[in-house]
Amino acid sequence: MPFDPLDAAPASAISDGSRNESVFTYLNPEIRKRLVAEGKLVRIDRLGRPISSADGPPEGEIAINILGPIPLPVELRGVATTVQWYATVRSTELTKVEELARDLRARGGQELFSALASSMAVNSCLVSGDVRRAENPLVRVHSSCLTGDVFGSQRCECGPQLAAALARIDADPAGGMVIYMSGHEGRGIGLWAKAATYLLQDGGEDTYEANRSLGLPDDSRDFSDAAALLHYFMGGRPFRLLTNNPKKIADLAAFGLKNVTPVKHVAGVSTWNRRYLAAKRDWGHRLSEQDFDQS
Ligand SMILES: [Zn+2]
Repeated sequence: MPFDPLDAAPASAISDGSRNESVFTYLNPEIRKRLVAEGKLVRIDRLGRPISSADGPPEGEIAINILGPIPLPVELRGVATTVQWYATVRSTELTKVEELARDLRARGGQELFSALASSMAVNSCLVSGDVRRAENPLVRVHSSCLTGDVFGSQRCECGPQLAAALARIDADPAGGMVIYMSGHEGRGIGLWAKAATYLLQDGGEDTYEANRSLGLPDDSRDFSDAAALLHYFMGGRPFRLLTNNPKKIADLAAFGLKNVTPVKHVAGVSTWNRRYLAAKRDWGHRLSEQDFDQS
């Protein structure tokens, strides 16, 4: 029988009294229970340690819910592979949506579905091979870029970098994973502000100057969720990270991920994005003149 979230029991009715029983209360609680029993719905803390729904993290700690694995055959820019997809979301995001859902239900529920569809930051893990046992697997932590990843814009090299990461991980004997960070659009400033920076860039500013003109930081990406997921999947084992950005290595190290070997990752250099890449190099990315000759 299809489940109607509008008929869902209020959270208090399905709670067993534990303070963190809020995962998916807008979904059928029986389905949630089954997914937990099958190991397809897991909750972890910031160090990747599984926590039961009855035993949440201390106040102020992050908890991340992971739904998967879900087989996903992908075909991206000529790269064809099958990955296991895990959708991941912070408990606080779910709690916000649940509160919103309760409120909207009380008012008739008309806006519930658009609220569910648009208001949560859901990150993704795309896993190739047995990454939880692999020796020194290959990892890409990829910041979402609608214009590059989806529209194929060449103002940046994100789309080719994503496809090349999937190809390299798929071809690597150790396998690995892409962590796709949905809240990282425009290095963390969001899509609307990114559009404004593009207009400023066309007036002569580089990618960092344009952020500063808007009063925004050069890079405001938060890697704490990526770190928790890496703790969970890697369990303290060393891994290789596809990146040219030393700050990403430093950010992950600050969350306790120290056994990380950077692996250069250059793809999609074009006449459209050479200036953008030069700005990244001047900012600290490990790119050489030869890298700019690739296309
Ligand atoms: Zn991009």
